[in-house]
Parts: sequence; C-alpha cells; structure tokens
Amino acid sequence: MNVRRLIPSTALAGAVALGLVSLTACGGTSDAADKGSDGKLDVVASFYPMQFLAERIGGGHVSVQSLTKPGVEPHDLELKPRQIGELSDADVVLFLKGVQPAVDEAIAQAGVKHSVDAASLTKLEDHGTSVGHDHGGEHEGESAGHEGESAEEHAEHEGGKEGHADEHGDGHGSEAGGDPHIWLDPVKYAEVAQGVGAVLKKADPDNAADYQKNTDALVKQLGELDTAFAQGLKNTTTKTFITTHSAFGYLAERYHLDQEGIKGLDPESEPSPARIKELQDKARKEKATTVFFETLASDRTAKTLAKDTGLKTDVLDPLEGITDRSKGDDYFEVMQANLAALKTALGAK
Ligand SMILES: [Zn+2]
Repeated sequence: MNVRRLIPSTALAGAVALGLVSLTACGGTSDAADKGSDGKLDVVASFYPMQFLAERIGGGHVSVQSLTKPGVEPHDLELKPRQIGELSDADVVLFLKGVQPAVDEAIAQAGVKHSVDAASLTKLEDHGTSVGHDHGGEHEGESAGHEGESAEEHAEHEGGKEGHADEHGDGHGSEAGGDPHIWLDPVKYAEVAQGVGAVLKKADPDNAADYQKNTDALVKQLGELDTAFAQGLKNTTTKTFITTHSAFGYLAERYHLDQEGIKGLDPESEPSPARIKELQDKARKEKATTVFFETLASDRTAKTLAKDTGLKTDVLDPLEGITDRSKGDDYFEVMQANLAALKTALGAK
C-alpha cells in the first residue's frame, strides 16, 4: 500500500521548509555572499533538477554551474578535483542529499558557506518497490475508494509504513530513509522552489524582490502542472505502471497510481526470476500495458520483460538530466511528455 500514503499539505510543509532553511543554510551573522567580479551570484547545482530551480529563480542575477554534465547518469557521478574547488568557491551550493553520494561527501568536507539540501525543504518519504509483497486484491474497487480517503487515513498509512527505509526502490536514498526523487512531484518541487527562493534572497538581498517574483512565477507554473497531471490521470483504465528506475514514487502517490519497479534494492542488479514472474502476474491482473524505461540508463531489462509479457515499452523520464534525446528542453516540457506517456499507458479517458 505504498501509493496512497500521506500527502502533506503544501502550506504546512512550506512552513517547515522555511524554518529549516534558516537552520541549514545560513547560520552565520553575515548572510550576504560576496558576489564575483561579474556581479552575479555563483551558484553550483548538483544535477539538473537543482540547476533548473537555480536558473529559473535566479534569472539574470545568478551564474549557475551544474556538477553533472548532460548525459551523465547522476547517481554514479564522481567529482573531479576542479569541481570540488568550485564547491568551496561557490556563493550558494544547491544539492539533494541521497541522490549523489560523491556530492554529499564533498559538501560535507568542503565547508561551503551557503549549502542547501533540497531534501530539507520538503518532506521525504519511503517508497518500497513491493518486492516480495503480495498486494493481491488491494486494487479492486480502488477508484471508488480513493477520492474519499481522508487525510487521517493517509496519515495512518504513513505511520504504519515507518521503519521500512530499507525497502527503498532503486538503491539510493539517505540512510535516514526517504526516496530522494522529490522533483517528480510538482507539489513537492514547488515546496523546494520556495526554499531555494528564500536562500537566494538571503544570499543576495539586493535582488530579493526579483527572486521572490521568479519564485512566485515558478510555483504558479508548477501548480498548473500539478492540475494537468491530476486531471489527466484521474480517470484511467489501470493505475499500474512498470518502470526500470523506481524514481516515480512521489508522482505515483500524488496521482494515486501504482509504480511497480522492475529492480529490487540494487539498481545494478538484474531482477530475480521471482520478481519477473510477479511483475508478469501483476501486469496481467492490473491490465498494465507498458514497461517504462528511462533515457539515461540501459533499457535491456525493460525490453526483455516487455517482450516476455507482450507489453509495450515507452520512455518515462526521471528528469535527472536533459540531453538531445530528452522529450523536451526543460523540466516542464519533459514532464508534459511524461504525462502524455502515462495517459497513453494507463488508458486515460
Ligand atoms: Zn534516481
């Protein structure tokens, strides 16, 4: 029952986020950064979802460097000495703990003035891949029950799920528990955007009004994206989709879908024959149509599973980087492509 858990209210999480910003980002007395010779705030972003926030919110006042170059699988990133130097020279470092161990480690060691862990700006949850769990019968009549499920019921699910951090689907995530793929939920991403806006305002108070304006515009656009997903995926033949990279736990939860990850705890490992069998049974039972793979990683397993089960394959992009092969040039375009792919796969009416 990992898809229907607590969806925290934006307002509450936002308030928590703002509190955390001041704790984690800027404890010192002088918060304003010394800007470089070009008069811009130097921001280092760990990977694309962080870079996009920095660019959108910073606009012309920031110069953004990403540690993860396009086409590089971000989870496996290794940093060059030069990049570690960039980290300590940056005015603001924006990263997401749990996605890239090399970055987490370097930031812990570099003593960066304004480092912001995006994970602290929203609430992380655990998303198991339900490996070895029998969800039999759980989804019967689900569409009827969903809408009426109260926040309290959600909260109970949440409580009951605690202590399952070890079930995290794709093998990365902080040990404290929590799936780091928050950017794939527009609501959580908007919470992070608010926190990033607050950090930039603090680091560069002269341009605070612009950062606020850009934050507001981005949050509004994310709200529209959320509405598009909610409406587009409300009424579908099936709620189940299969994916290689279990990056879509938050997205699934937000829109009442069921993500079935092909791989277990270790993202490098091949799924066990038992897991393949389980997925085949589930696909049949839940009328799943499509096995999704991602643009940056190997799709061999997905293709084999699809062939064996007679399912289609398509791309669902975890947006960990943008390349020429991405179905769009930025976060919003790729998310719209993801929505279109999900609508097709799930049989949206
Ligand atoms: Zn990932």
